[in-house]
Amino acid sequence: MAVTIGVACEHAAGERRVALTPETAKKLVAAGARVRVEQGLGRFARFTDQAYVEAGAEVVQGDALVDADVVLCVQPPPATSIAAMKAGTVLVGALQPQADEARGAAIREAGVVAFPLERLPRTTRAQAMDILSSQAGMAGYKAVLIAAQLAPRFFPMLTTAAGTIRPTKVLIVGAGVAGLQAVATARRLGAQVECFDVRPETREQIESLGGRFLDLGVSAAGEGGYARQLTDEERALQQQRLAEHLKGIDVIVCTAAVPGRPAPKIISAAMVAGMKPGSVVVDLAAETGGNCELTERGQTIETGNGVVVAGPVDLASQGALHASEMFARNLYNFVSLLLRDGTLAFDWDDELLAKTVWPERATG
Ligand code: NAD
Repeated sequence: MAVTIGVACEHAAGERRVALTPETAKKLVAAGARVRVEQGLGRFARFTDQAYVEAGAEVVQGDALVDADVVLCVQPPPATSIAAMKAGTVLVGALQPQADEARGAAIREAGVVAFPLERLPRTTRAQAMDILSSQAGMAGYKAVLIAAQLAPRFFPMLTTAAGTIRPTKVLIVGAGVAGLQAVATARRLGAQVECFDVRPETREQIESLGGRFLDLGVSAAGEGGYARQLTDEERALQQQRLAEHLKGIDVIVCTAAVPGRPAPKIISAAMVAGMKPGSVVVDLAAETGGNCELTERGQTIETGNGVVVAGPVDLASQGALHASEMFARNLYNFVSLLLRDGTLAFDWDDELLAKTVWPERATG
């Protein structure tokens, strides 16, 4: 029997993205699957029910997950909804099973085969399925636009009859996927862009996007292409050099992260106090605690010396249409690994499946 793929409306507050677009629905139907989506699924991301119907999906009122063999989601469904799934249902999305006890228990107890895509190994082959990368790109882009909106200045240099305007000096903290997109976006807006990271290989990437690598003399490359946590001495050195430098910076966009840990604190309250009035800090790391000591999750505050500190969350959701297109393609590419002639087949020798599945499978 053909596999049934179900997609329900997202539940999390502020979530505008969808896990299935008409484009990926069409591809899954072509691969032999039956696709069922809840009415209004794409309303916030601007995909109409009609577009899903034209793609070959069935649009239903109410529960689209009944009898689904595969459930696709952006954020995890409520634990009650997972508990109602039949044993063996495949659940794919940004699931974070360990972040919520009830959710983890529901997955285990219902016998759901969960693939939290944030666990996907970051190999070359996995790039087309990498939701962390695709969504970080949108977050980095939007963070710069928010900074430009909050800053009381132009980003580019302007020569006008009313005099010359000097370009805005933007510093991007962290040159991962979001940080590099932020460098590119700030450059496109005409700012003078600097960026630093503790991974030395980022120098070339920053420069190739027209940014300047800010060398703070700290290198902390860790495993798997990620950064490791800094030692106390390294952190002190980074702080000291940065504090002086920030006095000449107009806009900071923070994107630094260390996997599995709270965001590293890089911009102290004292550093912000040393910045010029009208400066702006946009902290994309707000969801995991923030890179700036003053960041308040989801808030925009103004300090006593006139510096605005914003901690936006759900940034990828702000670009819901393109973010969904990318997210849904990531999911489609992953689900394709599980489909053979329209039915489910698991190749547990494939590390992309074996390392992503949760709970982890017993080996040996
Ligand atoms: P991330 O979100 O974990 O971190 C963002 C950046 O913060 C990283 O560049 C990190 O080095 C930096 N950082 C951490 N601590 C810092 C500190 N104290 N000061 C300054 N910067 C600090 O990273 P990410 O964007 O998810 O990706 C990081 C790496 O993974 C990159 O090398 C990227 O090329 C690689 N990657 C590989 C694949 C793949 O091959 N499938 C996919 C995505 C990313």
